[in-house]
Amino acid sequence: MKNIVLFGPPGVGKGTQAAFLKDLYKLTHISTGDVFRNNIKNNTPLGILAKSYMDKGNLVPDEVTINMLEEEVNKFPNTNGFIFDGFPRTTSQAKALDLFLNAKNTPIKAMIALDVPEDILVKRILNRGLTSNRPDDQDESRIRHRFNEYQTKTAILIDYYTAQNKFYSVNGVGSLEEITKRLIKVFEAF
Ligand code: ADP
Repeated sequence: MKNIVLFGPPGVGKGTQAAFLKDLYKLTHISTGDVFRNNIKNNTPLGILAKSYMDKGNLVPDEVTINMLEEEVNKFPNTNGFIFDGFPRTTSQAKALDLFLNAKNTPIKAMIALDVPEDILVKRILNRGLTSNRPDDQDESRIRHRFNEYQTKTAILIDYYTAQNKFYSVNGVGSLEEITKRLIKVFEAF
């Protein structure tokens, strides 16, 4: 089982690259942002709750997110492995994920971070906002707030996975194919 965390700030390309890697290695891709957005679309209680945080660019509370993630993982008992995209985003989430996966004897093998300068990311997200219909993509102050959430709550996870010898970083600037090739190189090394 090859479970990996695809990591990086908003707009870095996690979802796009996860889609390639999942096909290549027959993995299950879980994007917490996508699961929340599906719930919002279907007007579920979880969606209504998540929307009140997401639209402002805030993180959804840990307890809600962790329960949802565990439910998603449990839907795929026979998978070759997971690509986690957008999870974990806080130290509590990372600890919960370790406990949960270790109990199943399928720990995280690596965290691969995509690295892109913030000014490029803001442009990418505003551009995505033209077609994504995502309220959190359409306003520069909300985007900056998401970066602030990333810097204050999420970036620390680099230390968390480095301490476990599981941290890898890949340059996320370039063509989609170039970035996929860089990820494959890292992916095949562990
Ligand atoms: P991006 O990484 O481009 O911001 P995502 O789709 O991954 O997009 O996330 C969108 C929003 O969904 C986040 O800003 C946050 O409100 C919520 N969200 C997604 N994953 C998590 C998580 N692990 N913990 C808390 N909130 C989350």
